[in-house]
Amino acid sequence: MPIATRAFAATSAEAPLTPYAFTRRDPLPDDVAIDIHFAGICHSDLHMVHNDMGGTRYPLVPGHEIAGLVTAVGANVTRFKVGDRVGVGCMVDSCRTCAPCRAGDEQYCVPGMTGTYGAKDKHAELSGEAITQGGYADKIVVDQAFVVRIPDSLPLDAAAPLLCAGITTYSPLRHWKIGPGSRVAVVGLGGLGHMAVKQAAAMGAEVTVLSTSDRKKADAERMGAKHFLINSDKAAMKAAAESFDLIINTVSATHEIAGHLQLLAHDGTMVMLGLTTEGLPIFAMPLLWRRRSVAGSLIGGIRETQEMLDFCAEHGIASDIEVIAPDQINEAYARLEKSDVRYRFVIDMSKLDHVA
Ligand code: NAP
Ligand code: ZN
Ligand code: ZN
Repeated sequence: MPIATRAFAATSAEAPLTPYAFTRRDPLPDDVAIDIHFAGICHSDLHMVHNDMGGTRYPLVPGHEIAGLVTAVGANVTRFKVGDRVGVGCMVDSCRTCAPCRAGDEQYCVPGMTGTYGAKDKHAELSGEAITQGGYADKIVVDQAFVVRIPDSLPLDAAAPLLCAGITTYSPLRHWKIGPGSRVAVVGLGGLGHMAVKQAAAMGAEVTVLSTSDRKKADAERMGAKHFLINSDKAAMKAAAESFDLIINTVSATHEIAGHLQLLAHDGTMVMLGLTTEGLPIFAMPLLWRRRSVAGSLIGGIRETQEMLDFCAEHGIASDIEVIAPDQINEAYARLEKSDVRYRFVIDMSKLDHVA
């Protein structure tokens, strides 16, 4: 029997999200059935709902920062049992045979990973949905290979954003080997940015935040940043020239980046994480002069996601959250558009009873 599921869905790029009922597949032998307790709101959810990248299909249940408890497991599942605290991030499947998949980088799967929402559902005949549906829902069924364990010391609500924001910043910090002595700048103090600050500081780096105003300065310092710059302040930007080994750029909109490139030291890299769709003006001279790089990075693999959760638990790191009820999603979206969140909205799915 397919599992009756309640959710909030977008029905078009413009319409507000509204209650939506559908079914999940009955768990297959490798599946884990999860009661979703909390789901984070990522800025990518807004991009998808608003069809910023094109190709969004509706109705769409967004949500890829999922935290909850296991309610049932299939016959082949050995790593999870009923009652376990688990998380699901941005992927629910991949080919598992290509070189990136075998290396644990399922996010770079050659034929393409299956996104937690908005991707073609391989099990459509069982779920009744043409596309995968995400975490703004009370239940989800996911293959055990794409489920991770949430350490006991992390509260489920503040852990939910780690499943996307947390891994998206952790992966490049590890890839570019950040550690004691590294000088890291984080551009944009939102959901991703605040995780980057906490994680880089815990890795021993000296962290600087670049923000559009001084509104978040005290928070940045509390999270572990040593320095704070306003990126429109030309004098401060000039004074900071050539001083960073890694810039984690989390800005969610097209913005001026030439000035930021000047902040990179010799051999420094700026990693672009924002899903901006317009071209960026990049000039060769500032790059070649100091052998600087501009790179991109997409979430992180499943093994690395578990490593990140364990790292966060060990260092007492979780997300700063504003918990909302499902009927406040549209209000939260409007605030997120204005960078007005401290620092992640998390939907309390137990409140779905009152509205859906
Ligand atoms: P967010 O919470 O909205 O934070 C984005 C921050 O960017 C804002 O807080 C703001 O920081 C800054 N910002 C926004 N508009 C700006 C503008 N026009 N000029 C300069 N700064 C601006 O978003 P998020 O959830 O962290 O996501 C950030 C981006 O990463 C989104 O595009 C999202 O889709 C993308 N993303 C990518 C991946 C990946 O795998 N690469 C994963 C998750 C998300 P201040 O207030 O400090 O100025
Ligand atoms: Zn995300
Ligand atoms: Zn693959």
